[in-house]
Amino acid sequence: MTYQLETAIMSTLKAAILIVSTTAYKDPSADSSRGILTDVFEQDGGGKWKVIETKIVGDEVLDIQRCIMYWADRDDGVNLIITTGGTGFAVHDSTPEAVTPLLHKHAPGIVHGMLAASLAVTPFALMSRPVAGVRNKTIVITLPGSPKGAKENLQAVLKLLPHACLQAAGADSRSLHAGGVRKLEKEAGVSSTPPRHEAHSHSHNHSHGHSHGHDHGHSMPVRHTLAEENPRSNDPSLGPTRRNRSSPYPMLAVDEAIKLIKEQTPSPQIVKAKVDGSLVGSVLAEDVTAGEAVPAYRASIVDGYAVIAPEDGTSSKGIFPVASISHATPGEIPPLERGQIARITTGAPLPPGATSVVMVEDTVLKTMTEDGEEEREIEILAEGVKPGENVREVGSDIKKGEVILRKGEEISAIGGELGLLTSVGKAEVLVYKRPVVGVLSTGDEIVEHSRPGELRLGEVRDCNRPTLLSAVGGHGFQVIDLGVAKDKPGDLEETLRDALRKVDVIITSGGVSMGELDLLKPTIERSLGGTIHFGRVSMKPGKPTTFATIPVKSNSGDRVSKVIFSLPGNPVSAMVTFHLFVLPSLHHASGVSPAGLPKVLVALDHEFRLDPERAEYHRAIVTLGRDGLMHASSTGGQRSSRVGSLKSANALLCLPTGNESLAKGANVEALLMGRLKTDFDAL
Ligand code: AMP
Ligand code: MG
Repeated sequence: MTYQLETAIMSTLKAAILIVSTTAYKDPSADSSRGILTDVFEQDGGGKWKVIETKIVGDEVLDIQRCIMYWADRDDGVNLIITTGGTGFAVHDSTPEAVTPLLHKHAPGIVHGMLAASLAVTPFALMSRPVAGVRNKTIVITLPGSPKGAKENLQAVLKLLPHACLQAAGADSRSLHAGGVRKLEKEAGVSSTPPRHEAHSHSHNHSHGHSHGHDHGHSMPVRHTLAEENPRSNDPSLGPTRRNRSSPYPMLAVDEAIKLIKEQTPSPQIVKAKVDGSLVGSVLAEDVTAGEAVPAYRASIVDGYAVIAPEDGTSSKGIFPVASISHATPGEIPPLERGQIARITTGAPLPPGATSVVMVEDTVLKTMTEDGEEEREIEILAEGVKPGENVREVGSDIKKGEVILRKGEEISAIGGELGLLTSVGKAEVLVYKRPVVGVLSTGDEIVEHSRPGELRLGEVRDCNRPTLLSAVGGHGFQVIDLGVAKDKPGDLEETLRDALRKVDVIITSGGVSMGELDLLKPTIERSLGGTIHFGRVSMKPGKPTTFATIPVKSNSGDRVSKVIFSLPGNPVSAMVTFHLFVLPSLHHASGVSPAGLPKVLVALDHEFRLDPERAEYHRAIVTLGRDGLMHASSTGGQRSSRVGSLKSANALLCLPTGNESLAKGANVEALLMGRLKTDFDAL
């Protein structure tokens, strides 16, 4: 047979579809596979196929076999028989058992290709038991029963089948293969893995002649990695028709997601930090001991007169000369002798020999110097003055050597911790390094919020970047503006690579939904070699929230893990998921414990409707009532695009799933995001 003749046959390959389904057999209107698979032949078959036969049979081995033999055992038999259905594990599923004994040759490559293609969509692909092979001059392939699975499987191999059908029909293999695998790929309209992705797989020489077995042609999706290594994200180069139509990422409960974040956030690093205001928000990585006592000298607690308290029970009253003056200034003070007193101010050191201080209020001026400028004699009115009275002894506030702060304690802006450190002269302490955070918006439609002029159709002002930047900064983390990335794989990859050099944590928004321009997941998995720990969470808002880590080499050459949160694009979803997921990660990374927002119990001010499927994080205003209990009211419409639902909100109510409403007065947990309001404010 000449090559021209083969090409002529190729243009009219005959296919038959056998639907194996007891349900559809009884009621043909229940079948949707026939139409879907016929469409695949028409749309993806390159005009080479004609479906000339279709038939529905029940799950009966003999019926299946009879039909296949009828189509494959004639001289003018069909080139391809595909069956759909009966490949599962149910008791009546018996298509592979019916087909296998009919095959004269087996084609495990086709089986492998179909499984690999489906596996990239769902692990349940492995629950299908396909067989494929040749009977006489006809290729027989069993597809799964689900129309979606059947379609994906057929699409995975269809373009390669004309070649196999021609060979099976008796075409000369030598002339078929002249021109090598590249020519075959071109004719089939398929391509090998793009070069960029080859870096991840083992090296194959694609230029070798295609002189034997065609299952090595690489146009079939051949798997080289373990299941868990395989990216679940879309391959953007395949275009919208080959993207997943439902998310391949398992839906995690919020608690599970938070647990994964804790496990996967890198442990905090220890650094030396200067003791000053920049320390606020840091957590100590060491116990701190006092190197000095406070006070460092015996100091007066009041303004008054340093005295020597009588030891023999005699009166402390009397008129005494003012021998010296001790102000709160450094310097020498002459010792006090019995019968003398010294004027002293609050905080000033006691003269050597003085035992106590008498308040100025307990004294009277008796005589003064000639010029009237100075006190000469003072009358002490206080009786029974004891040693140590009105004196702060050395180390009475902080003892030298005492532990003043413990590892794990946070330096607050209130001042207590910084006060302790500064008062004992600590210049540096060991703390956990706080991660540097980068914030990136994504989307071709996103424009700077401040861009003058009206928006063009489709443009959206960037709301997420300013709000996320301020939220991160407001929680005390250094934050870098990474700008806006376009919905182009290269642009996004480059921006993220650049960001990985500058920051420890990347927060992106947008591009994690199910659209073909949602590139975050594929870019993280396929281009940056990251691991997506979760890509879907059962919550409202925020379902597509994605958390990943990316291994990178640090400046010192160590392998470190950087964290990336890809938050949903809707402004409310982005902010809610920041508070719920990103904040705990930033806390873990910087040693803050407990991590995340504080949780309190509140009573509902009014009825709240529940979502039957997803836990809801309802924006609310929580107020502390005069009864000492906290109560919550909604901020109104909760659609995830309505950023106004966050206005004035200081809490996220954690509403459980349910089919009913929660009544007024019911108690629910609330995560406090902002300052508590109180019913006392109005006073
Ligand atoms: P996406 O997940 O990228 O499809 O985004 C979901 C929705 O959020 C779309 O309506 C986007 O226009 C919108 N969106 C994405 N990023 C932002 C942003 N930075 N500011 C405001 N809206 C945004
Ligand atoms: Mg987008």
